Amino acid sequence: MLDNSVLVLNKSWTPIAITTVKRSFSLVFQDHALIVHPHTYEMHNFESWLLDNSRAVAELADHPGWLRTASLLIRVPEVIVLGRYNGVPRRELVFSRRNIYRRDTFECQYCGCRPGLKHLSIDHVTPISRGGLTSWENCVVACIRCNTRKGNRTPDEASMPLRSRPGKPNWSDGVGYGERVPESWARFVKAS
Ligand SMILES: [Zn+2]
Repeated sequence: MLDNSVLVLNKSWTPIAITTVKRSFSLVFQDHALIVHPHTYEMHNFESWLLDNSRAVAELADHPGWLRTASLLIRVPEVIVLGRYNGVPRRELVFSRRNIYRRDTFECQYCGCRPGLKHLSIDHVTPISRGGLTSWENCVVACIRCNTRKGNRTPDEASMPLRSRPGKPNWSDGVGYGERVPESWARFVKAS
């Protein structure tokens, strides 16, 4: 549970990174960040967080979002907000098929259809055989039909323009958050 994902907001409540519970607690201990309450969005330092926890413990002690230590029950934070501190190491967004699907919102980048995962594929904009790289900039979601039709050609040659220019997505695009996005994140990140 100490490795659970925690959404990191900057001072203006814009998501800038994802970190772990462990790292969040360390930032909060050092007064670099405050914990955002998952329901009320109130901000807490460590002391007020414990106080808030102890109030809720009686009714919620068996809730899955709670970490039991030898002497304390501490609620695992889901969102933290940075104070002045801007030095949180950004976890790189992993380049993966899944994250390309998320970036392109499961939409064929040629015809715009959304036929479902089974009928989608990853297309190399410039084909590999012609020196195209497997990268954020050269991989897009394409439906099987478009992918087959495009074949070993560039979008120009196939007269199949891309609907958007592929690139590396940002955290605020809602990519890379994993399968389960906690409800408390929904107000800060786009659902994918
Ligand atoms: Zn298509």
